[in-house]
Amino acid sequence: VKAASPSLEWASFGEIRALTDERLRAECGVRVAFTARIGGVSAYPYASLNLALHVGDEPSRVLRNRRRLCDSLGLSYPRLTCAEQVHGVRVTAVGEQEAGCGRESDETSLRGCDAMVTSMAGTPLVMFFADCVPIVLVDPSTRVAGVVHAGWKGVLGGVVEASVTSIQHDYACDPKQIFAYIGPSIGPCCYRVDSERADLFRAQFGEENVSRDGRLDLAGLAKTTLDRLGLQTQNIAAAALCTADNNDDFFSYRAAGGRTGRHSAVVCIE
Ligand SMILES: [Zn+2]
Repeated sequence: VKAASPSLEWASFGEIRALTDERLRAECGVRVAFTARIGGVSAYPYASLNLALHVGDEPSRVLRNRRRLCDSLGLSYPRLTCAEQVHGVRVTAVGEQEAGCGRESDETSLRGCDAMVTSMAGTPLVMFFADCVPIVLVDPSTRVAGVVHAGWKGVLGGVVEASVTSIQHDYACDPKQIFAYIGPSIGPCCYRVDSERADLFRAQFGEENVSRDGRLDLAGLAKTTLDRLGLQTQNIAAAALCTADNNDDFFSYRAAGGRTGRHSAVVCIE
């Protein structure tokens, strides 16, 4: 099966909203979604579709939100698979053993893991975000899918490379066939780093990719990385939405001063 090219558009699923690619789903049976924060049951400052257990929200509400996410998108809640997300570069291949890990407690989430990849149908992979860059990878021809958590440490440390490499080698996919979806994240408009950290990025990505005043376009750097790994430009779709500027739609750690919820990136081979 072959979809023409990836795209991201808003759609409603019952009470929740998400950026999704309906054509990919129709043609390849793979669901991609970046959820907005509305339509859940959590209260301020987690209002309302907070999907993360580790941020201080009432666990029972988070679980109701997770169930709502799955019900709305038609995904299996028992097999909803979560990772610890430690700003590292470890990729976990999700098989039968891993399916459903972390669904109802952080302790059982995939340890030390910032990217998940699978070829197993009916197993939604979900990661949680509030400024970091969410990336969903899908090979429509082989039906392999993954989700990546890329903050500044991950982008610099190589979590994007590790994820594409895993799909390429562990699942025998051709990077030229891989679709990448870059979800909403903090934009260069709202994200500046100190000169020391900016220099680390200049060393890895070149002067031209980091502004003189230290503004970082993490999503842009993730795209540059995907280009370098051999993905085709037309196979990369970016939401191009700043989480800090779009607080009605998304959580932003920076805009909220730290205490807030998490929206999600989800991928599932149906
Ligand atoms: Zn912004």
